[in-house]
Amino acid sequence: MKKASNFILIIISLLFFQMESMGQSAQCGTDYIHINRMQTDSAYRTQILNLESNVEANNQNHANNNLKSTLYTIPVVVHVMHLGESTGTGTNISEIQIQQAIAGLNDRFRNVNALGVDVELEFCLASIDPNGNSTNGINRVDGSGVVNYSANGITPSGNPCSGAIETAIKDLSRWPVSDYYNIWVVSEICNGSFVGYASYPVGGLYDGLVIVSTSMTSNSGTLPHEVGHGFFLYHTFNGDGGNVSCPVDTNCLIDGDRVCDTPPHKQSDCGTTNPCTLAGVWDNSRYNYMAYCPLVNRFTQGQKVRIRATAIVAPRASLLTSVGCGPLGIDESSNMFSVFPNPAQSVINIKSNINLIGSFYVIYNNIGQTIIKGEITSDDTIIELGNLSVGIYLLSVGENLKQTFKVIKE
Ligand SMILES: [Zn+2]
Repeated sequence: MKKASNFILIIISLLFFQMESMGQSAQCGTDYIHINRMQTDSAYRTQILNLESNVEANNQNHANNNLKSTLYTIPVVVHVMHLGESTGTGTNISEIQIQQAIAGLNDRFRNVNALGVDVELEFCLASIDPNGNSTNGINRVDGSGVVNYSANGITPSGNPCSGAIETAIKDLSRWPVSDYYNIWVVSEICNGSFVGYASYPVGGLYDGLVIVSTSMTSNSGTLPHEVGHGFFLYHTFNGDGGNVSCPVDTNCLIDGDRVCDTPPHKQSDCGTTNPCTLAGVWDNSRYNYMAYCPLVNRFTQGQKVRIRATAIVAPRASLLTSVGCGPLGIDESSNMFSVFPNPAQSVINIKSNINLIGSFYVIYNNIGQTIIKGEITSDDTIIELGNLSVGIYLLSVGENLKQTFKVIKE
C-alpha cells in the first residue's frame, strides 16, 4: 500500500514537473528592446536608472511594510490580435484559454507548487473598462490588415526583423497603462524568433507584454517570465555577455540580475553544478522562471522583494489603486444604509438607519477621480447625477467614507 502511494506521488511529481518544463522561455525578446533603447533613447535610460535607484532604496528598506504581507492585485487587459479567425480558433484564442492562462500565472506568482516563494501578487482580468462599462477583460482585434503582420507577426522595436511595426499593432488596442497591465496576444513575433517579450516598467506606448497565442496557456512558463520583466526582474544570467562569461557578482544588489539569492550563471548553464560559482542555492537560478533552463518552477525571496519594491513606485504603483477589476470586496448593500435606485438615471438616494448627518459622500470614477462630493444633511440624501456619463462608479459614504458601494449610471 505504501509502495503504491509512493508510486502515485512520483507520478504526480513527474506530471507536475513535465507541465512546468513545457513552459520554458528560451526565446524572449525583452533584452533586444531594452539594450537598444538604453543605447538610443536617453529618456528611457534616465527612467531605468531612476527606477533602479528607487527600487534599490526600497529594497534596502526592509522595514517598509508595503514590501510584505499585503496581497496586491493587478488588473489585466488581454488584446487578442488575431488574423481574422473566428473566436476560439487559431490565433483568436478562446476566453477559457485566456482565463486559464491568468489562473496559471497566478499559481506561479502565489507559489502553489511550494517550490519557491509566494510573491503575494495576483492578476485579474479587468471587469470594468476605461469607460466604466463592464467587460470580460478581453479585446479581440483583427490585425491581418497591418502591413507584414500576417506574414511575420509583430517586430519588437529596435529589432531588424520584417514583422509589423510594434506600435502599429499596439495602437489598435491599448487601455491606459496606468490602470491596466496590457497583454497583447499575437500570431508571431519576428516570424517565430521569439515567444514573448515585455517592457520594463517605464509606462508609455510600449508598456505591457507581448506573447504568442500558443504560449498563452495555463502551463506557460513564458507568461510568468515576461510578467517578471514587466515588474523589473532581469534574467538570472543577466550580464553573461550573451552566454560568453560568468556575470560579475561583486555586489549582488547592483550586479547581474540585482537579486542576491539567485547565483550568477551563464544562460546555457542549467546542469547539476554551476560552473560560475558554488556559492548560494543553485536551484534558485537554474529552476527560476527568469532563466532559460528547460525546467522552471520558482521565484525567490530576493525576486519577491524586487517585484514588490517595483510595484509601489511609479509607473506600477497606480495599478495598485486601479478599479479595473471592480470594487472587489465591496458590499452593495449594508444594514446601515441603502442606496437606490441602482442602476440610477438622474438621482440616487442614500437612506440611513444611523445618524450620518455631518458626514460626507464622494462619487469616484473608474480611475479614482472624485466626480461628485457633498455633505449629508438629512436621513434621506438625494444626489443629483446631472450629466454624469453612463458607467460604473464608486460611492463612498459615512464616517471617514468607510462604506463603499458600486453604483451604475444608466
Ligand atoms: Zn526574458
